[in-house]
Amino acid sequence: MKILVINCGSSSLKYQLIDSDTEGVLAKGLCERIGIDGSCITYQKAGCDKVKTEIPMPDHTKAVELVIAALTDPATGVIKDLSEIGAVGHRVVHGGEKFASSVIITDEVIKAVEECNDLAPLHNPANIIGINACQQLMPGVPQVAVFDTAFHQTMPPEAFLYAVPYSYYRDYGVRKYGFHGTSHSYVSKRVAEILGKDYNSIKTIVCHLGNGASICAVDCGKSVETSMGLTPLMGLVMGTRSGEIDPGAMEYIAKKENLDLEGVMNVLNKKSGMLGLSELSSDFRDIDQAMEAGNEKAAAAYNVFIHRVVSYVGAYAAVMNGVDAIVFTAGVGENDPSVRANVCKSLGYLGVKIDEEANKSREDEVIISAPDSKVAVLKVATNEELMIARETLALVK
Ligand code: AMP
Repeated sequence: MKILVINCGSSSLKYQLIDSDTEGVLAKGLCERIGIDGSCITYQKAGCDKVKTEIPMPDHTKAVELVIAALTDPATGVIKDLSEIGAVGHRVVHGGEKFASSVIITDEVIKAVEECNDLAPLHNPANIIGINACQQLMPGVPQVAVFDTAFHQTMPPEAFLYAVPYSYYRDYGVRKYGFHGTSHSYVSKRVAEILGKDYNSIKTIVCHLGNGASICAVDCGKSVETSMGLTPLMGLVMGTRSGEIDPGAMEYIAKKENLDLEGVMNVLNKKSGMLGLSELSSDFRDIDQAMEAGNEKAAAAYNVFIHRVVSYVGAYAAVMNGVDAIVFTAGVGENDPSVRANVCKSLGYLGVKIDEEANKSREDEVIISAPDSKVAVLKVATNEELMIARETLALVK
């Protein structure tokens, strides 16, 4: 079956058409600046170069229309017509406590996702727009919602409750939800497969280190702790997000900078993290380069990032009362050997030993620990789209 995977943002739409029999990507691309001047679609057929076309896209329905047109184009497309698309899988960011797994989309599901809009005001409304556009253009094709939060619904209350008045949890759903669940789930399963272990009997710590970054403790196949919270602002140092910060600092910053709450949140989300600390860039490639050139602020930002990852890994090993495998994934985790090496340097107390040569490998999936390491350490390329396609297939089969 051919499955269209859609990841819809407020002004963008990423897509992949995946053949579920081979799990190969037939075509993929991105619609950008939807509803804004200068909108364009990028289309890439497997084995071919990317083609970028500027074309007006007043709304997401037009974007989906253009995606379908690209996929069915007689010269460059990969399918004859729409009837070849067996199902559509949508990434949905927040499923609150309502969704602990992926679901076939019905009117009730859309209503329930809308009820989570307050928890992810930038993401969920855009995800729903994408679902509506696909329903309109592909009536009768089953659509599935795959939630970023669902994998973490196995966290116990002691991990997800915040120590604020309980009524905030009961009445407003204030708690830790966690994100990147599709990635944490995919990568932790791959680790068990690569190591030849039973997924339901190993303890894994997944370090998803990208522009957004989070860590997850996966104990016997279940997420039991994760570093993002009610929102994706909590936890690790990210590209532009602060991660963990004393809530008391918010009032102090507001007074010093004469900002309201919205202003402070904007700073913590968009002007903090690696960008804020380095006063240079949110991108690790720039940070690495600047450090090599002797830039001290870049080095300081880098050290804060590593320190935070090390602290969380230690905490999560404690939460699980041990760890069998630590895995690095996402843009930084997959591509930056120095980050992996520097994190592992501080994990000697767990018996972690890195194989320096293996750590330099550019393969997608590599065991980077030395044979006598007490904990297996890996890097595994994440593949959220494939996971969404798998979940979709499982539900529509
Ligand atoms: P993601 O959010 O997973 O797509 O990760 C994006 C981030 O990965 C970028 O902002 C970079 O900081 C980082 N990244 C990508 N390639 C490299 C690389 N070769 N070396 C270091 N960092 C990288």
